[in-house]
Amino acid sequence: MKNTFLNFILVCSLILISAPFARGKYDYTGNTEEKRISVVVIDPGHGGKDFGASVGNAKEKDIVLDLALRLGNSIRAKYPEIKVIYTRTKDVFIPLYKRADIANKNKADLFISIHVNGTDKTSVQGTETFVLGQHRSKENLEVAKKENSVILLEDDYNTKYEGFDPNSPESYIMFELVQDEYLEQSVMFASAIQNQFRQYAKRIDRSVKQAGFLVLRQTAMPSVLVEVGFISHPNERRYMVSEKGKAALSASIFNAFADYKTKIENKSSFSVHTETGSLKSTSTTANSGLISSSETKTEESVKSSSLFFSVQIAASSKKMETTPSNFKGEKNIFRVDAKDISRYYSGKFQTLHGAENEKKRIQGKFPESFVVAFENNELISVKKALEKM
Ligand SMILES: [Zn+2]
Repeated sequence: MKNTFLNFILVCSLILISAPFARGKYDYTGNTEEKRISVVVIDPGHGGKDFGASVGNAKEKDIVLDLALRLGNSIRAKYPEIKVIYTRTKDVFIPLYKRADIANKNKADLFISIHVNGTDKTSVQGTETFVLGQHRSKENLEVAKKENSVILLEDDYNTKYEGFDPNSPESYIMFELVQDEYLEQSVMFASAIQNQFRQYAKRIDRSVKQAGFLVLRQTAMPSVLVEVGFISHPNERRYMVSEKGKAALSASIFNAFADYKTKIENKSSFSVHTETGSLKSTSTTANSGLISSSETKTEESVKSSSLFFSVQIAASSKKMETTPSNFKGEKNIFRVDAKDISRYYSGKFQTLHGAENEKKRIQGKFPESFVVAFENNELISVKKALEKM
């Protein structure tokens, strides 16, 4: 009974991630080796009728707008070739989906959402940066709930967000299997921000975290949500509204941006050659072996070559058995475990054509699927795989 229920939940979450308001697709056949950051979208949270967290005259919407403008000015001054776009430059209300739309339509390379935290306990303080994913603690879920609940101020939020209830924990099940191709980059940028907050601005580092933020879910590029401090903490509140505080916080995010830009642009085919993308990381599941598969037979049998194509259908912070009942009846699913994320693939193919056909077939069930390539059980770019054939 318990297992049946678990499967039911997992199937539900798979259906949920198939919802059309999912993240955009990215094909690894694209030229990932010439990665340059040319468009950055900066998103000061809240605005207008939505004050965000506030205590007395100190309002989140004002603090984050100030920080966003400072950050954008610094980027423009140092990197005039980069296009900086703001989701708002004034005190106006912008629906959450529009913020993501702005980033997607402008094909941003990076999305930075800036927020201020708040809680009932006046002793809680520090900075934290979120990337998209399943929350690991109730505390992180609460932050996501608070930030997502701004959609309740939007007209017609029920239709726009397909019944997503920001206050219901059940709504957050869909974040368990988020297909996030940008997780590594997002984490890299988030870590750089937290390093700067700690070292440059001397703030308390509450670390990089994951939670289900709608605004991050809807953007199709590396994206982070920065919480620069707690407005509920008297000292931190004073710091955030002070000139010194604003200068140090915005400079920290700028320094982190500069670090990230250097790393991304100097690292060839970064998106597939990360440490976490390797099959060599250890698995802690009951399944023996690093790749778990319910069935090894595929439509095209793989010969002696260590090079093959596959289709990534999902990614999750949770390790799931690759049984058909967990994957809408699919029998050729195998899983690759990395440090914080497990990825699920369908089939192994000798040709790109075979994998493309599989992608077309399986997109009916998993719309965000995309083709990947492996060599010696490590992800490589599809482009590189084709060159080697
Ligand atoms: Zn906020």
